[in-house]
Order: sequence, then structure tokens, then C-alpha cells
Amino acid sequence: MRKPMVAGNWKMNGTKQSVGELLAALKEQITHVSDVEVAVFPPYVLLGQVEQLLAGSLVSWGAQNLDIHTEGAYTGEISAHMLKDFGCTYVLVGHSERRALYHESNELTVEKYRVAIAAGLSPIFCIGETFEERKKEKTYEVLSAQLLGILSSQENLASLKNAVIAYEPVWAIGTGLTASPEMAQDVHQKIRFWVAERDKHIADGLRILYGGSVKSDNAKSLFAMPDVDGGLIGGASLKAHDFLGIVKSCSSF
Ligand code: PEP
Repeated sequence: MRKPMVAGNWKMNGTKQSVGELLAALKEQITHVSDVEVAVFPPYVLLGQVEQLLAGSLVSWGAQNLDIHTEGAYTGEISAHMLKDFGCTYVLVGHSERRALYHESNELTVEKYRVAIAAGLSPIFCIGETFEERKKEKTYEVLSAQLLGILSSQENLASLKNAVIAYEPVWAIGTGLTASPEMAQDVHQKIRFWVAERDKHIADGLRILYGGSVKSDNAKSLFAMPDVDGGLIGGASLKAHDFLGIVKSCSSF
């Protein structure tokens, strides 16, 4: 039985004040919730505050990115060990904005996944196709190329038991367009099938989140799909009311 997860990617948003307000509201509501895991992904500079505010709560936290090096002369970068030091459980890897705006390749993304695992972090490995790629019926091809470095390595494959996959069609991120529940299920089922071909046990336990304009009014039907194990939420994770509405759609609290 997979425990659903609702993860909020704050991207480059938030101030010390807004974080205090948002987390106070989340903590007040998420007190005895055991049927869903909730996590937030603040910008690096807010991690210390988030750690202080969430320590001992039921809400986990992580970072939006990491560097592949451990330490040293890498100005502006943050290592996996630093994230551990700030109590992170998770880290996003390969978000489509990192891939598109910062030219992160499939190879670098897989290396970040490996480094995160080695440091004891759980990566949320993001994959997704663009609108053009879907139109040309290349969705599976693109996704399998993004996953290749994980599925083709016995070590990386085995470490999926400590990771999460997020399917985020690029055309749905921040656009208000959402994959229909059937479209999401089709892709999630395929991803699980690719993993199951190599290791059925890992595939059965692997959480695959959907991301792309999830809101409280569409979350329930998406999360009802058998292979959709929750969501990675961008815009709607910045307002407590909206985010909690999404959490409630896969929880009985
Ligand atoms: C995201 O950034 O991962 C995301 C899914 O954004 P949004 O929910 O705003 O589409």
C-alpha cells in the first residue's frame, strides 16, 4: 500500500513573513494526518526557518535543487550534505524549469539523483514532455530517455525504493492546463510498468506523483487514479487554503 504524498514546490517565492504565516496554517491543520504525507520545498534561504518551524511536525521539507559536488569552490551552489544539515528529507531533481532554463541534461539530472541518494536524501525525480513532444506522439520516448540513467543501472534502480517520481507534463506546469485523470493514469501506469519489468517489488512500492496545475477542484479526480500517488504542486502550494484543499482530497482528515 503506497502512502500518497502532496508536495508543495514554492519555487522562487516567499519571504520570512509569508513562510511564517503559511506554515502556521499548515501546522494547525495537519496534526493527526497519517494517511497522506505532506512536504514543502522552499527556496534555499528559507530552509533554516522552515526547519525551525516544522521540526517535530507531520510536515516534511526538502530543497528544490542540489549540486553534485560535496563542497569547495562552486560559488552559488548548495550540496546534498548542506541540505541534510538543514534537516531536509527530500530534494527535487530535474524539475522541468531546471532542465529548460538552466540546461540541466538527462545525464546531470541522473547524477544529481545519485548524489542525493548517496547523501541519504530522497530525491523526487521529475520527468515530463513538452507540448510539441506530445503532439508528435513522443511522450513515452522522452520519458524513457529521462529515466534511462535510473532504469539501466542496477544500483540506481534499487535506490528507487528511497525515491519518488513526479510526472509533470511541461505544458501543464503553471499554465492552468491539466492532464485529464485518464491521461495521467496512462503515463503513470507506463512508468510503473517500465520499473516493474526490472523489479516488480520496487515498482509496487514506488510513489509516482502528478504535477501540472493541480488545484483543489481537480485533485480528487487525479488522485483517484490507481497509479497516481498524490501530487507535486506549484502555484497552489503558496496559499494555505488552496494547498490544504489539495491535501484533503487524498486524506480523510
Ligand atoms: C511545479 O512547479 O512543479 C508545478 C506543478 O507547478 P504548478 O502546480 O503551478 O503547475
